[in-house]
Amino acid sequence: MYISQIFTKTTKENPAGEVSVNAQLLERGGFVYKNSAGVYTFLPLGWKVAQKITAIIREEMNAIGGQEMFMPALVEKKYLDATGRWDVGVGFKILDKLPVTDSELQVTNFVLGWTHEEVITEMASKFISSYKDLPFSAYQIQTKFRNEPRAKSGLLRGREFMMKDLYSFHTSEEDMLEYYGKVKDAYAKIFERCGLKAYYTVAAGGDFTAENTHEFQVLSEVGEDTIFLCEKCEYAENSEISKLKTGEKCPTRLPDGQECGGDIKEEKSIEVGNIFPLGTKYSDAFNFKFTDEKGGKHSVVMGSYGIGIGRVMGATVEVSHDDKGIIWPDNITPFNVHLVDLTKNGEGKDVYEKLIAKNIEVLYDDRTDKTAGEKFADADLLGCPVRLVVSEKTLKENSVEVKRRAGDEIKLVLIEELERALVR
Ligand code: ATP
Ligand code: MG
Repeated sequence: MYISQIFTKTTKENPAGEVSVNAQLLERGGFVYKNSAGVYTFLPLGWKVAQKITAIIREEMNAIGGQEMFMPALVEKKYLDATGRWDVGVGFKILDKLPVTDSELQVTNFVLGWTHEEVITEMASKFISSYKDLPFSAYQIQTKFRNEPRAKSGLLRGREFMMKDLYSFHTSEEDMLEYYGKVKDAYAKIFERCGLKAYYTVAAGGDFTAENTHEFQVLSEVGEDTIFLCEKCEYAENSEISKLKTGEKCPTRLPDGQECGGDIKEEKSIEVGNIFPLGTKYSDAFNFKFTDEKGGKHSVVMGSYGIGIGRVMGATVEVSHDDKGIIWPDNITPFNVHLVDLTKNGEGKDVYEKLIAKNIEVLYDDRTDKTAGEKFADADLLGCPVRLVVSEKTLKENSVEVKRRAGDEIKLVLIEELERALVR
């Protein structure tokens, strides 16, 4: 993609009123635009990152049998009334009068969906009646709306945000827990592929369940959560439920039966994912039962599993940046390569075309009205993993300069050897 053709522009100054690093850098780079507090547009560059994250999530959800679907954002009151969650206060309610016939208006009670347990449970109850139909799991990647009082952390806490939510349905608690373990492993892969170190953390269930749940927490000083983490075995508990203290020895039983004994430390962290064993709370609310082999009726056992796409993106920027800009991990970078053209006549275009012919994603700085310094500053701000520089000087040697965003070393590489040099 040619930088001269991208409709957004980078800025040197931090946007007014943004205190968090992820919002500052993502807005300066033209990845996102703040429309309102906690409400962001994903601009072309930011949308590329979001799509890479969702592609990874899709692959891992499909690999554990998740069936992708897409549920409505408008959720009628009857759904949340069934579980007593209409008045939880998290949702934006729409209490407008809407026409039901040409002459008749009716008050319609909707909330903008902030989670979809009720919606999917009611639908599943219409299709599933026998043990033969179970287990199954389905997910969506969709916009959620929450009336967050503290929308000041950029993409970390939006009032409107994209979430992947997966729901699973089982004949027994054991079967649910087995699948829960598979989701846990899938989540570990997702965060690892996104370049994040996320700790599996025991937590409370909030508005979802009375059971303990599990969160995936990324260590960061700007995180709103506090966890107690064992340095040795990486066991972690959210401080909301934990009785652990800093300096204590980790009580976890290791597979050999011994106590771990590692040092517990307190850390600030960002919750990027959350998985919930739901039991039968939602199936009971919708009288959702299945018939077993002998004709007996039982409530369906459920789990639900969320990941915030913008939260993952924001957390990545929080943990992977320097004073010059973002440092994208390889798998979720908007482009593999940022090609800076310093020639007078756009001679870098040949290099650009060679690379895209090899399926390398290139952001090509073809601008003629910017200084070299401005172009380098933008390359650092935008944070693609590799920066290439083409100039009259490098072309004399049939070469380009190669520098990794995360390092300082600059190498001159022959154009014909460039593809090999880019593959690590
Ligand atoms: P939090 O505790 O941070 O308020 P939550 O526990 O209410 O979040 P869940 O309902 O578990 O969130 O949502 C699943 C995932 O969606 C979270 O792990 C997080 O990644 C993301 N998420 C939740 N709320 C927001 C938000 N306001 N903005 C962006 N992402 C969010
Ligand atoms: Mg949570």
